[in-house]
Parts: sequence; C-alpha cells; structure tokens
Amino acid sequence: MRIEKPTPEAIARAASVLREGGLVAFPTETVYGVAGDATNDRAVAAIFAAKQRPRFNPLISHVADLEAARRLGRFDARAEDLAARFWPGPLTLVVPRLPTSPVSLLATAGLDTVAVRVPDHPVASALLRAVGLPLAAPSANRSGRVSPTTAAHVAEELGDSVAMILDGGPCRVGVESTVLDLTTDPPTLLRPGGVPMEALGLVQLPSDAGSAPRSPGMLTSHYAPRLAVRLDATEARPGEALLAFGPGEAPPGFAAVRWLSRSGDLVEAAANLFAALRALDRPEYAGIAVMPIPEEGLGRAINDRLRRAAAPREVE
Ligand code: AMP
Ligand code: MG
Repeated sequence: MRIEKPTPEAIARAASVLREGGLVAFPTETVYGVAGDATNDRAVAAIFAAKQRPRFNPLISHVADLEAARRLGRFDARAEDLAARFWPGPLTLVVPRLPTSPVSLLATAGLDTVAVRVPDHPVASALLRAVGLPLAAPSANRSGRVSPTTAAHVAEELGDSVAMILDGGPCRVGVESTVLDLTTDPPTLLRPGGVPMEALGLVQLPSDAGSAPRSPGMLTSHYAPRLAVRLDATEARPGEALLAFGPGEAPPGFAAVRWLSRSGDLVEAAANLFAALRALDRPEYAGIAVMPIPEEGLGRAINDRLRRAAAPREVE
C-alpha cells in the first residue's frame, strides 16, 4: 500500500489498477472510500474481504455524472429532479436496476435496485473519468470501525489490502452520504447523511414505510430465493439442486450442481454467490442444498447470507 499525491500520473495508474480488478482507496467529499470496479464480481468480493465485513450489504456505485448513472438504473422524473439539485454531492439515490445494468449482483446484494451517487470531489471525479467504470466504494475502514476522513486513517485501517491510497487531504463533509430510496412514494430515507433531510422535501422513515408485511428478505434489503434453502448438506434429497463448494467432490444425486468455487477459494465463492443463487432458484427444483462453507474470512459473510436465505420465511 502506498499513499500517493493525486497527480494525473497517479490517477492514471489508479485507473489501470481498477480496470484490472484491483482496489484503490480514494477521497470523496464525505469519507474515503475503498473502490473497486462495480461491474466486476471479483473486485467487489475483494472489497468485502479488505473490509473484513461479516455481511454482504449492497454497495453504492459511484459515477462521474448523471449520464453514467442513467446506464445503471432507471431515473424517473423524481430521480432526475433530485440528481439535478444535489449532484455532484452527498446524496445517494436508490433506483430500480436496469435489465442492462452492468453492476455486479454482489455489489447490489442481489437486489433489483441500485444505489448511485456522483461524488463532489476533484480527485474522485478525475478518477471516475479516467477509469470510465462505475466504482463500488464503501468507506475505507475495517468493518465495525469509524469511517476514515484522511489518507493516514485509511492506511491504518486497510494496510496492504489496497494497491494505493490517493491522498486528497481531509474530507470536507466527513459523514457518509444520505441514502434515499426512490422506489417508494414518498421516498424513504434509508440513511441520514451529508444532505439534511429537510432539504429533500417529503420523505418517510423506514419504520413507517407502509403497513404491508414485508419479507425478511426485503427488510434486510437482501434477495431471498423462492426455493427453500438447506445448509451444510452432505447428501442429496429428491429433486434438490446443489450449491457446491470445493476443494472436495460434490455429493452425487442432485438434480443440478452449481459451483461457488471448485478450489475452495472464498473470494471466488463470494463473487459467484448471488448469480449462483439466482441460477438455481427455479421451480423445477425441490430446493437448494448448500455444501458446508468454512466460517472464516469471506466465508462468514457467505454463511450469513445463506443462513438468512435458509431462515423460515416469516414477517419480522
Ligand atoms: P456504504 O457503501 O458503506 O457507504 O453504504 C451503503 C449504504 O447504502 C448502506 O446503508 C446500504 O444498505 C445502502 N444501499 C446500497 N444499495 C442499496 C440498495 N440497492 N437498496 C437499499 N439500500 C442500499
Ligand atoms: Mg462505512
């Protein structure tokens, strides 16, 4: 890991690291982010590994401008209006994912929505323009610790798990972006942040977001497969599909087998998780059985996600 001045040369190098699937920490007006190519499952899995996050929560895709944002999600009149008023700036908009959206399923945690923001910082803008890709970039700290607002904080937090840290000085806003879900009417304030709620007009808070019961999958903002999920499977039950994890052999007798990682690589498994769950979630199978996955490193986040997929489907 190296702390570097954000010269045009360093930004060009950071962009090529990102294009190759590597991670770079960069300043935004809110806090420092640990960025990876939001369209690359492996890069996004590496972000979770660097943060040692025990859960896969959906990440914000950062883009250079509104035009780039429109390629990721559907912007209705309300979204266009908020973007025109607050971008670039510390407001994240959650909008429906476009079918053509290139954002990794892991970055959106399998949801049908995508969270997008245009940061207001010269280094962030220069990097986003140089790389020409949406960047998934949660705060550049280890899970459970406070967000970094200087390059030195990032170095303490992430050490060698990022290829470089672009130093843009202290962050101006210093708190995370406000997250606004535009799939409800009125919009739902998911996280208070840099743009004060009063500036946003009528919004609702998640607690009073309608009386209709919502599935735990929705409440936890996570994709829940329709099929029943059975963990720690060592043998087949009739009609089940198998989510397999190496390095051993898959047990015989399953109607279908999909590998998270044949070699037992947890970063590869995390990268494949949401796509694999979707692929197996089909009515011709009786359920989804999952081979045991070690409870270490990214295995914790994978198991957290799978345990919640396997939990009884009741209203929380
Ligand atoms: P971070 O990237 O760590 O700044 O945090 C991202 C925040 O945005 C978290 O609070 C997420 O739960 C929220 N978020 C990101 N994507 C979505 C989404 N598609 N739907 C709802 N919330 C989201
Ligand atoms: Mg954070």
